[in-house]
Amino acid sequence: MSLPATMTGAVLTGPEAIEIRQVPVPRPGPGEIVLKVEAATTCGTDVKVFRRGGHPRMLKVPTLFGHEMAGRIAALGDGVDDWREGDAVVVSNSAPCGACAMCRLGRENLCEDLAYLNGAFAEYLHVPARFVSRSLHPIPPGLDFGRAAMTEPLACVLHGMDACELERYATLGPVETVVFGAGPIGLLFVAALAAEGHRPILADPNPNRLDVGRALGAWHTLAIERGGGQAEAVRAATGGGAGAWVVVDATGVPEVWADALAAARPGGLVNLFGGCAPGTTVPLDTHRVHYSELTVKGVYHHRPETVRRALTLLADPAFPADPILSGERSIPQVEEALRAMMDKRALKLVIRGTAGA
Ligand SMILES: [Zn+2]
Ligand SMILES: [Zn+2]
Repeated sequence: MSLPATMTGAVLTGPEAIEIRQVPVPRPGPGEIVLKVEAATTCGTDVKVFRRGGHPRMLKVPTLFGHEMAGRIAALGDGVDDWREGDAVVVSNSAPCGACAMCRLGRENLCEDLAYLNGAFAEYLHVPARFVSRSLHPIPPGLDFGRAAMTEPLACVLHGMDACELERYATLGPVETVVFGAGPIGLLFVAALAAEGHRPILADPNPNRLDVGRALGAWHTLAIERGGGQAEAVRAATGGGAGAWVVVDATGVPEVWADALAAARPGGLVNLFGGCAPGTTVPLDTHRVHYSELTVKGVYHHRPETVRRALTLLADPAFPADPILSGERSIPQVEEALRAMMDKRALKLVIRGTAGA
């Protein structure tokens, strides 16, 4: 495969500002590859980055962006011996250093030098050496690129599933788990919980999204009001009305974090998965946390191990991820795609890695 000189890419230039530009196609240095992006999926994080015009940890404008991607290897740098041109791969959007205390503890998501990769809303993507050696995964035969691009969010969710410690409650049978938020992450939580035979109760204000939740295996859905104060209604929907053993926040809204804390039953676990805006706080009922032995956990990102598991799960046609994909767009339509997500007209869109129209 020979690389063209230029490509179409979506360049984020500031808050709510995207320019479709012709930019040089990257060339691989030693240990690097260039990926022909076949599919990239839009994500809530992309919407956040679009709104704010960047991200303190992940990217600074002007820059190519997009971080959920699948494609084929278009060019190999010197010394890349394990891969061939044309291989179908997923590149994870982060690469741990492998050497720091967190990496040695198997908590690579908290790596002290975690590198992030962005630029999936373009025809080609430059993949640095650390990503080639730690974050490149072959796509199993039969798995479509659009579905494969969902590896990243599902890997986050599988890391979140591990944090739920569902095995704690195994002697009681299927575990009742409340999921606040029916965005792509909350919905993937529902699918992953249902696939393991648990009982996800999905709470969200949007009836269409609750319908998708049912298609993915929600045991029960609950239309709640926006803005918090919904814990009582959610507790009432659980068996016995005492709250759930496990409660997951997939909203990143402080008022909903407070509801999540209040919706767990004694001895339960609260998984605070949705990232809130910096500087926000939530009050904690000290009496409940202490006397009811609530486990409260912050949970972030994914680990290489959960990336591999996510890819295997997506390759299983029985795993119902497709209802989360709301349609397809081309690179020039990236801004429209992100606005469709902001307006809740789409859950997740596949950006095909072609210049298109
Ligand atoms: Zn994402
Ligand atoms: Zn590290």
